[in-house]
Amino acid sequence: MSLIYFIPDWDDRVDPNYDFINDTHSPDRDPYHSDYYAHQIYNEPPYDGILVSRAVIDRQPSKLELIRDIGSIKRYLRLPESHTVLGDCGAFSYWREENPPYKNEEMLEFYQRLGFDFGVSVDHLIFAGLDHDKERRWNITMENAEVFIKRHRAGRYTFTPIGVVQGWDPESYRRGARQLIKMGYRYIAIGGLVRSATKDIIRILSAIQEELSPGIRVHLFGVNRPEYVHVFAQLGVTSFDSASRLRRAWIDGERNYFLGDDAYTAIRVPYSSKMTGKSPSNEKELQKMEKDALTRLRDYDRGIVSINQVFESIVAYTELSGKMSSRMRREYWRTLQEEPWKRCPCAICRSIGVEVIIFRGNNRNRRRGFHNTWQLYQNIKSNSASAPSCDLTRYEALLAPPQPLPPPSPDTRRAAPPRGEADGRG
Ligand SMILES: [Zn+2]
Repeated sequence: MSLIYFIPDWDDRVDPNYDFINDTHSPDRDPYHSDYYAHQIYNEPPYDGILVSRAVIDRQPSKLELIRDIGSIKRYLRLPESHTVLGDCGAFSYWREENPPYKNEEMLEFYQRLGFDFGVSVDHLIFAGLDHDKERRWNITMENAEVFIKRHRAGRYTFTPIGVVQGWDPESYRRGARQLIKMGYRYIAIGGLVRSATKDIIRILSAIQEELSPGIRVHLFGVNRPEYVHVFAQLGVTSFDSASRLRRAWIDGERNYFLGDDAYTAIRVPYSSKMTGKSPSNEKELQKMEKDALTRLRDYDRGIVSINQVFESIVAYTELSGKMSSRMRREYWRTLQEEPWKRCPCAICRSIGVEVIIFRGNNRNRRRGFHNTWQLYQNIKSNSASAPSCDLTRYEALLAPPQPLPPPSPDTRRAAPPRGEADGRG
C-alpha cells in the first residue's frame, strides 16, 4: 500500500497572473475565484487529497455558504475527482473547552452534505498540561467514536468513517486503537502528536501496530517532520497530513526552500514600504536599494552580474534595518552559489525562476511552499527502502519493548462487524 499524503486546507492560493516585475496582482482579481490552489498549477496535484477541518470552515460563515452553493467540498476546492477530501472537527481549535462543540449527528450530516470522502469521529485533545483530565477526554473521544460508527452504519452515509484515538502514552493509544478496531473501524486516525518528539511518535506507533490486523488503515494527524514518514509507514501508518513543508517556506528562519534532502534559505527582500520606521533611511533611498537588490538577483540568475555584486546589494538592503548575522550571510551565499531553483523541474521553478527563492509577499512565499510540497510528494512517491530515513534499525533502541496486553474491558468485548461493513468506499 503506498503512503497517502493529505495537505490541510488553509486557503493556500496564489494569483496565477501575478506580475513579479511590478509586484501587482492581475486586474479584477477575486481572491477565491481567480486564485489557484497548488493542484491547479501542477499537472498532477502534489498530494493525494486535502484535509478540511470543520473548525476552519466555521471561522468564515461565508465559506460554508459558498461550499453549499457550489455543491460539494471537492468542487469548492477544485480538486480532481480522482483525489479525496478528508474531514475532521479540528480539535486543536477547541482544546480549551470542556467538551467538543460538535455532536456526532451534526458531523455525520456535515460530511455527507458536503460530499467528503472520509469523515473523522469527534475527538478531544489531550496535552501534557491536561493530566487531571486525560481519562475523561480519552473517554469522550472513544464514546463519540462508538456513537459515530453506529449511526454511520444505521444511516445512508456514503463517506468512509474514520475513528480517532487520542492518548498520553503508548499504552493509552494502544487501548484506544484496539477499541476502535473492535467497534468496526477499518480506518483509524492517531491524533495529538503534532508537537511530540519523533522518538515518542515511534513508541506510540509501535504500540498501536500490535493491534493492527491486515487491511486496517492508519492515518497520522499533523506530521511536523515529514522526513520521517517512511519510518512511520513501516510502523503501520498508511496516510498522513502535513503542512510543514508548505509553511516552512515563510515561517522557518533558515530552511525555506527544499530540494531533495537539502534545504536552503530564501533571500529576504522585504517591501520597502514595510521597512519605513525600522530603518533610518528615507523612503526614496529604501526604494532604490530594494530595486537594486531585486534587479541584481534577476541579473545574477541570467549570468549578467557576479555573485559578489548581488550579495553586496542584498546585504546592503538588509542591513538598512539592522546588522546581518554571519550565519545568515553564509546561508545567503550558499543559496546564491548553488542556485537550487535552477535544478528543480517543478512547474513553478520552471516558470518563475529566481522569484521563487525571494522571500517577499504571498505570491512568492506561497509558491515556494507549493514547490516544497511538490518536492515532498515526489519524495514520498518515489521513495525506495534504501532511503536512510527508512532504516528502522536506527530506531530500534527507541522502540518500546512489547508488553503483555491487559484483559479486555467489558465495553470492548463486543464482536466486530463483518469486514468492510464500516468501510463504505475509498
Ligand atoms: Zn520547484
